[in-house]
Amino acid sequence: MSYSSISHLTCPKCGSEYDDTQLNQLCSCGSPLLVEYDLSSLKGKKKEEVFDTSRNDLWRYHQLLPVRDPENVITLGEGMSPLIAMNTLGKKLGIPGLYMKDEGMIPSGSFKARGAAVGISKAKELGVKQLAMPTNGNAGAAWSLYSARAGIESYIIMPVDAPEITRKEVAVSGSHLYLVDGLISDAGAIVGGLVKEQGFYDASTLKEPYRIEGKKTMGHEILEQFGDSIPDVILYPTGGGVGLIGIYKAIQEWISLGWIKEDKVPRLVAVQAEGCAPIVKAWEEKKTESEFWQDSYTAAFGINVPKAIGDFLVLEAIYKTEGCAVAVTETDISTYQKSVAELEGSFICPEGAATFAAAASLRESGWIKEGEKVICLNTGLGIKYPESVHTAPRTLEKGASPDQVLGHVLV
Ligand SMILES: [Zn+2]
Repeated sequence: MSYSSISHLTCPKCGSEYDDTQLNQLCSCGSPLLVEYDLSSLKGKKKEEVFDTSRNDLWRYHQLLPVRDPENVITLGEGMSPLIAMNTLGKKLGIPGLYMKDEGMIPSGSFKARGAAVGISKAKELGVKQLAMPTNGNAGAAWSLYSARAGIESYIIMPVDAPEITRKEVAVSGSHLYLVDGLISDAGAIVGGLVKEQGFYDASTLKEPYRIEGKKTMGHEILEQFGDSIPDVILYPTGGGVGLIGIYKAIQEWISLGWIKEDKVPRLVAVQAEGCAPIVKAWEEKKTESEFWQDSYTAAFGINVPKAIGDFLVLEAIYKTEGCAVAVTETDISTYQKSVAELEGSFICPEGAATFAAAASLRESGWIKEGEKVICLNTGLGIKYPESVHTAPRTLEKGASPDQVLGHVLV
């Protein structure tokens, strides 16, 4: 059996087909391209026969990943993040079956490592020497680090407001780092110029077809980690939405391989912030594409994406799984970041906190029903966003007495 069952690339809009052994970006019609596998060759096989169970990272799914030659795999051990029961918070929200898929546990401290590992490995396989990408921070950090490991030169452009730690991750890896006084869409326009004039590989979200394949493994893992049962709802913080599209792709692969039934799949929920909710607006208006969101703002920086290139794929995944899209307030994001730490001992990122806020409101409205199993996706470590928590501890004198420490009379 070959290392990968990849067959070709296909356009979800016009149906054109492309060869994955050639360098491809968008379809000539402007749509992102998706990877197709020869699933018929795997049909009838058990999961244990398709998955490489000797590996405890996302490369256990190499048969359903696009890298043809294992020699090209660039890995730092990404994947197989824990699925954690959130019993205390779940009880409080009326969702006893509440879980967190914690992506803070993988290299670079965010889920972006998945897309970078697979995207960079395939770029290496295709002979890419230089790439450029716009980023809201975490993706740039992950792609810089994996580029360094692969010996690929990278040019990274991020908004000046992106989390400062991600600048440092880019800089320390030897990538070329630039800031732009604007949004990720402004950074994207500059990258577009570099790609056009310098011939760099464009690693922007969905402008290369392989990042999504890395993100897809979150879906494979969730389905594997749940064993024989299937979660009812998966909530995903949605900026570019690649992870949600990827999870939906994993679900479709499981259906094709006969491992789950088409009429019993998790409902996918796109979670956005009220200050940047183009997908929510499109879903509410039952549209198949979103409109550019003017003057977007949210402290959950990773989901500040005013117009996602794959918006039609995100909306399709929501409609097909009978999911929904929901916007949460900045106050709720901050409240749930604290609640998850206080009640469950996990310091999650603001984007992850948004999914818990959304779960609370969907349970309250009855959309999440009693007894349903619900997964919130935490996309990164809270410690990457030190500015998201404000502290005002007292400074003690050396040798302070317990009385002085506690600030009251001890009984
Ligand atoms: Zn096309």
